[in-house]
Amino acid sequence: MTLTIAKLAWIAMAGLWYAMRVPHVRRSRKTPIRRDELDWSERARLCVSLTGLGVLPVIYIATNWLRFADYPFRPGQAALGAVVAVVALVIFHQTHKALGRNWSVTLQVRESHELVTHGIYRSIRHPMYTAFWLWAIAQALLLPNWIAGFSGLVGFGTLYLLRVGPEERLMLDTFGEPYRAYMARSGRLWPKLFG
Ligand code: SAH
Repeated sequence: MTLTIAKLAWIAMAGLWYAMRVPHVRRSRKTPIRRDELDWSERARLCVSLTGLGVLPVIYIATNWLRFADYPFRPGQAALGAVVAVVALVIFHQTHKALGRNWSVTLQVRESHELVTHGIYRSIRHPMYTAFWLWAIAQALLLPNWIAGFSGLVGFGTLYLLRVGPEERLMLDTFGEPYRAYMARSGRLWPKLFG
């Protein structure tokens, strides 16, 4: 593993993620919305996350503006990053497959929204966020730069911490008791191990 290959691995991760997402964005435009929670705070969270997971790494890869924050490249660390990236993409694919038309990039409830508790959602309530956490970890391992490497963890971490509570309240409001029961038997980011 060389630094160039590590950078290419980040680009491949972003490219494959984008290719997986595009058909869902297209389909979601055709699925009517019942309730939309897209306010200024949701827009701000999305902006912070996009900056950390996308804009800063692209600046690092495409320019030398962030060179001052470089640290020495370690091949083993980057190879581990590539493995984590593959796991993130596999989980990401599974989440879109299970959520289908119920997916939105923001907090929305669709007309005829169904509560998804099958597939990867059976024991994890937010597997798409698990996939994004893994993306952020992969980025930190692949890019040997204090800013571009860690911006994903800070950016997505901010979105996650500010969004997961409101999202669960929205789901509880929409689905009531079935979501409460689902919460009791599932974990937020990985399966509940005990009870
Ligand atoms: N937090 C989930 C989904 C992210 S997409 C995950 O990490 O996998 C965000 C949209 O998914 C929200 O607008 C919400 O309406 C919808 N959503 C979240 N959990 C859901 C579920 N279990 N079933 C159906 N829709 C869900």
